[in-house]
Amino acid sequence: MSKNKSIFYLIDGARPDVLKTLLDAGELPNIKKYMVDEGCFQKGTTCFPSTTGPAYLPFLTGKFPGDHDITGIRWFDKKEYFKGRWGRNAMRSYCGYEAKYFNEDMNEAYPSLMEIYPKSFNIYNMITKGVKEENDLTKEGKSKLYFNAHFKHTHHIVDKLGHKHLLAALDKEFNFIFAVFPSIDWDSHTYHYEDEKTIEAYRIADRSLGEVVEKLKATGQYQETLIIMASDHGLTSTHTHLDLGRFFKKNGYRVLEYPSIWTLFPKVSVFISGNSFATLSFLDKKKLYMKEELFSKHGEVLIKLVKNDAIDFIIVRKDDKAVLVINEDGEAEICWSDEGIAYKSITANPFRIADTYKYLDEQESFDHCFDSDYPDALLQCRQLFESPRSGDVAVSANIGYDLRDFWEIPEHKGSHGSLHKDHMHVPILMNKPMLDKPLRTRDLFDLIRNHIDGK
Ligand SMILES: [Zn+2]
Repeated sequence: MSKNKSIFYLIDGARPDVLKTLLDAGELPNIKKYMVDEGCFQKGTTCFPSTTGPAYLPFLTGKFPGDHDITGIRWFDKKEYFKGRWGRNAMRSYCGYEAKYFNEDMNEAYPSLMEIYPKSFNIYNMITKGVKEENDLTKEGKSKLYFNAHFKHTHHIVDKLGHKHLLAALDKEFNFIFAVFPSIDWDSHTYHYEDEKTIEAYRIADRSLGEVVEKLKATGQYQETLIIMASDHGLTSTHTHLDLGRFFKKNGYRVLEYPSIWTLFPKVSVFISGNSFATLSFLDKKKLYMKEELFSKHGEVLIKLVKNDAIDFIIVRKDDKAVLVINEDGEAEICWSDEGIAYKSITANPFRIADTYKYLDEQESFDHCFDSDYPDALLQCRQLFESPRSGDVAVSANIGYDLRDFWEIPEHKGSHGSLHKDHMHVPILMNKPMLDKPLRTRDLFDLIRNHIDGK
């Protein structure tokens, strides 16, 4: 049986360009030596929405948020809502006490690496499905640590403690360790993605890697260990907040949103993730809207929304196998079938990519838009809208803007969640030279399995 094992450093919110600049400046000597020089460094793409939590699913299960019906850090299910507003699955926000439902909300058909490998350990990962209680190393005290980190900005202590747990875990028999280093994301939201505090968070991960490699070598485990370091999304700085809930209120809609979910007779639900992504459901119709009817009833407010400086584009359903991407210039269509996915400009080209003229398979559709402003846009829109929890409309914000103001304490100075490359591109590093081209974060799932299984 294979003795192979894997350690996953999830450096939450790390941008590939910032990482590269730091590597070139000699700031991250361990990552440079063990990953870049002896292994590999590729730019990858995360999923849509590019937001913490849902964006861990591709690594851990090989599937996208839509496959799990976990279409954001907050989601709304129109069908369940009309069965009973206070029903268990009508809506969700994993930001508060409902975080504990994340595990059971995941699709049973797609088991996580922790379910597949019983000797798995967890450090700060919110997805703990399959992890034995004694292997969930940061279970004790996590809420207090995270609460203080959030309100007192004591971020780095969390990563440093996580590193200690990681070092200790190396003494145990393990197949897989998933360790989240959250400070890059937190510092970027609180200060800026290039703030000195954020840069120090990169250095903490680098020093951790150095000590982990040293220990693996000293105990003769290094050769059989695949170390991966990757991020779940990029991040941009935010200069302006458009509070989407307030936008709809100003336009005469009663709004259902977190945390004010008790609104009487709501007309639209506004559910925001990461803060540059939102889904909307109009509550005057029980079934999901298709574009024609949606615009005949709510076209006025949606056109106003699309013209707002904060909005890059919206996506609406055309039919069961097609969506329309709409920006202020016009619209384009993404459609799919068993043969693949296609993109066609209609009155505009919101993604600024070439029409495909035929159905593309998953690899072709990846290559088609990897270098565009919207990497992996085609498959990402498909997976999202194949879930009914994407609502009637998905909203992607422009860079520099986010969609939540009133309810956000402390104020967010950085955001992610959108389909823009600055949120979608992520660094993927390994201590073995296994990658020679860009890939989806989803593809790491099979790669880890093959390694541990000795294939
Ligand atoms: Zn994140």
